Amino acid sequence: MGVDRRQFLKIAGLSTLAGLGGKTAFELLAPGDVEAALPLMKAKRWAMVVDMRRLNEEAMKKLQKACHYAHNVPDFGDPKVEIKWIWAEEFKHAFPDHENEYVPEKVAHEKVLLLCNHCSNPPCCRVCPTGATWQREDGIVMMDWHRCIGCRFCMAGCPYGSRSFNWGDPRKAPKALNPDFPTNPEFPTRSKGVVEKCTFCDERLAKGLLPACVEAADKIGKDLLIFGDLADPDSNVRQALGKHFTIRRKPELGTSPNIYYIV
Ligand code: SF4
Repeated sequence: MGVDRRQFLKIAGLSTLAGLGGKTAFELLAPGDVEAALPLMKAKRWAMVVDMRRLNEEAMKKLQKACHYAHNVPDFGDPKVEIKWIWAEEFKHAFPDHENEYVPEKVAHEKVLLLCNHCSNPPCCRVCPTGATWQREDGIVMMDWHRCIGCRFCMAGCPYGSRSFNWGDPRKAPKALNPDFPTNPEFPTRSKGVVEKCTFCDERLAKGLLPACVEAADKIGKDLLIFGDLADPDSNVRQALGKHFTIRRKPELGTSPNIYYIV
């Protein structure tokens, strides 16, 4: 299960309540109740653990599809202008600091699931001239597309390639027009000339839901992606980190990334 046990129990309680009336939990709650429910998905420091040992390429594609559908991520059909919130990359590119000439061929070319690291010390936020990207108290690095002027300083500042620029009009991207990939009306589409990236599904957390990728991963296998509060010693994230050897991407840069990989 990709969520803290205590949080899950609270959510499960709400879901049971919802099941009774055939409505979602939030439809059944009065406005005051909703506010009370929001802390369900609160944390001091959100983090994710990715179990690289068990995530194959097919599973990664499913997780990307879930994320990109949920957020209307455009697909221009050209890798040079690719927009990616979550994607797969070869180990040797994802972890160049762990690469050496003797790494087995299979490992070097193995795909790793990548997304914004929601770094504790994010250089992308420091270089943004308009405050279009900033860090919340719980560690999520946010993005406001209305304030983005497309200068791409944040892209230059991010050492992980976690940000993408809309060179074309996302609303006219072929995938946006594909009936098999309908626009999600609950999430805003963007305009040409802005940068975008993963926000740990802040919009879903606010509704007491897990990030879309974590929810999709839970359907494939238990604890493929573990999402929780790094500051809580009892959280599932902390338990996984205590149990398994993990690595992070380029921690030597001092960015303090909050995505951990079980290898
Ligand atoms: Fe910023 Fe890149 Fe770190 Fe995400 S991974 S917080 S975009 S520096």
